[in-house]
Amino acid sequence: MAVIDAHNHPDWHGHDLERFLANMDANGIDRCWLLSWECPAHEYSPHYQQVLPAALLGSTTGPVPFTRCLSYVERCPERFVLGYCPDPRRPDACAALRAAHDIYGARVCGELKCRMLYDNPDALLLFRCAGDLGMPVTFHLEYNRRQSHGDPWTEWWGGGIDNIERVLQACPNTNFLGHAPGFWLHISNDDLYQRVNYPPADAPVVPGGRLELLMRKYSNLHCDISAGSGFLALNRDHDYTRRFLAEFQDRVLFARDYFDSRHADLIRTLALPAAVSAKILGGNAERLLADTH
Ligand SMILES: [Zn+2]
Repeated sequence: MAVIDAHNHPDWHGHDLERFLANMDANGIDRCWLLSWECPAHEYSPHYQQVLPAALLGSTTGPVPFTRCLSYVERCPERFVLGYCPDPRRPDACAALRAAHDIYGARVCGELKCRMLYDNPDALLLFRCAGDLGMPVTFHLEYNRRQSHGDPWTEWWGGGIDNIERVLQACPNTNFLGHAPGFWLHISNDDLYQRVNYPPADAPVVPGGRLELLMRKYSNLHCDISAGSGFLALNRDHDYTRRFLAEFQDRVLFARDYFDSRHADLIRTLALPAAVSAKILGGNAERLLADTH
């Protein structure tokens, strides 16, 4: 059974290729999806420069240029899956995605992390293009917390869960992977998503959250469990998580967006049936890319 980390980035948090591979080996990870992050410099906080050297490299396209993903994949094609998501507002976004797919073998459209509502027409066009190419779309969703113009670097990405539902309806032939606080807070049927990005550790999961409702209603929605958001959501209430993972065992993907072992440790702690954890740890990622063409 292959273990696949379905969300990570090149040069992220002090990792060059060699350190990245050593970390994968130490964590028993066979393959990793390497995602870009393209967005204008005025949309993301300068603090990212501490963990991403894009400015050092002279990137004009954002914090994780496609060329860095490609560099890893070209040097080590057996360990990585190439991802690329152009900024949907680029007039040539669909052509860029198609070129990444046709020429360089990109198989995932991700990460989408732009300061725009994801159900806007330019984004929908790109999602349909990704669907035509068989590329799943990984999006970062995070609610707006800006209170005034005095906090220019308080970020928001994509809008809210209603924007995502409209995307799922408008693009039934595209697979989506939901990620980040604005997505995972909806594991619970409460209003925490209106106030915080990360739930308190003891916050119970109230059944009937938008996440389970959307997962039931839209078969093109999948869950990317990476980062603190995915981990904290699934760690809130292990009994709820076991039920959630049993019901949606074919559409939840192990992913890290970092270099630690907490997601894998959590899956181990939950003691899921072997067939279920095998799907989450790698089977679903493989199947999702099987119809990429
Ligand atoms: Zn993200």
